[in-house]
Amino acid sequence: MIVVMKTNATENQVVGVQKAIRELGFKDHRIHGEERNVVAVLGHVYPELVDELGVLEGVDTVVRISKPFKLASREVNPYDTIVRVGPVKIGGGSIVVMGGPCSVDTEENVLEAARAVKAAGGHILRGGAFKPRTSPYAFRGHGEKGLHILAAARAETGLPVVTEVMDARDVQLVAKHADILQIGARNSQNYTLLDEVGRSGKPVLLKRGMSSTIEEWLLAAEYILSHGNRDVILCERGIRTFETATRFTFDVNAIPLVKKLSHLPLIGDPSHATGKWDLVEPVALAAIAAGADGLEVEVHPNPDHALSDGAQSLTPKNFAKLMDRARTLGDAIGRPVAPAYNEPVAARKAS
Ligand code: PEP
Ligand code: MN
Repeated sequence: MIVVMKTNATENQVVGVQKAIRELGFKDHRIHGEERNVVAVLGHVYPELVDELGVLEGVDTVVRISKPFKLASREVNPYDTIVRVGPVKIGGGSIVVMGGPCSVDTEENVLEAARAVKAAGGHILRGGAFKPRTSPYAFRGHGEKGLHILAAARAETGLPVVTEVMDARDVQLVAKHADILQIGARNSQNYTLLDEVGRSGKPVLLKRGMSSTIEEWLLAAEYILSHGNRDVILCERGIRTFETATRFTFDVNAIPLVKKLSHLPLIGDPSHATGKWDLVEPVALAAIAAGADGLEVEVHPNPDHALSDGAQSLTPKNFAKLMDRARTLGDAIGRPVAPAYNEPVAARKAS
């Protein structure tokens, strides 16, 4: 349920509505609109609440939200959310690109990948220190040491860092080093973990589960948002279908649909969707053309020697080519690739 305030409602009246919502035992969530304020009411709402809140001073209308996800919904917040990470803005009309190795291996490789991502105009460095692997015998990441390697690459290049957190017990540790916490496809319905990243105060990149419906994915986002964390970035990374010729099936339909249903920024991951480096560029461009706000792409200086996902990783040269094509496409459709990251090279703490 949302309480839509009158355009001329005073600050005191908005605060009064928020207080009344809390006194009735619900959670409130304020949205500062361009024209008017809206206050979302969270919890098990009942029909009579429409009248109880409707009589409060400054209230224009009280509207029940039809979708099961509320804070993630455009019904509650029609304005595009822009997630700010240092100088990078994700969402709101331009294209942001995150690139880097699947898993953090050596400091040299991660630095080389980070330099390549930056040189090509990429905005954020990706890399996994905690790796969810199908087999327990595969390389599962360097853990905390990997976080330090990512932090060193950020210190040199200035690129903010996105990295996966797999366990609720590690959220504080990963949040200390990362600029964006990634929730992987396999953990996208791990509700304890979603609660914890919701409380972390850090932006969260939420992958779609490989078997999640769009509604389940947006409800996963709702977990994070319900803790007051407004900085959620969605990522379509392919779903499981009958097709086995590619690793997953990139659900291009989901992009325009989710952009309609939700105000949250949405990026595409063509690397995990296809599993094949030579399909990454066309699927990346399809994601942008369909309305994605950016990309997450695997880049490795020497894909043949990557400790995970080498077959889907771009070389620096192919990443630069993808960036060129993305710029051409972005300009053609009026959603340009965001300017290259130009912060002077200097050591910088996680924001
Ligand atoms: C990743 O981006 O490192 C990853 C493991 O992707 P996903 O969770 O989408 O499989
Ligand atoms: Mn990977």
